[in-house]
Amino acid sequence: MPAYDYHCKVCDVQFEARHGFNDPMPPCPNGHDDVERLITTAPRVLQGMLADAGHGGTATKEQLRSKWAEETPKLREKLVKKLGEDVVNRNAPSLNTSYD
Ligand SMILES: [Zn+2]
Repeated sequence: MPAYDYHCKVCDVQFEARHGFNDPMPPCPNGHDDVERLITTAPRVLQGMLADAGHGGTATKEQLRSKWAEETPKLREKLVKKLGEDVVNRNAPSLNTSYD
């Protein structure tokens, strides 16, 4: 089961929990139920893709930019389908921006 990062809106604490994607949110370490999932895997995936595109640092910024422009909308679309537009906008605003 994958681990996800969560944020407690009550005590503003961030924590990680192993949890099914479609299960109800786990309570925070202090017992609050008002938590939201943080999408931290998306930037990690993107970083991996960009590293691949970079071939050990030989890619130009222009190549990275076009790779980002090509992959980001696909990834964003997947996340929106799974989580909804609001969640993606709130948790992964970088997906709405261009690579820089
Ligand atoms: Zn809490």
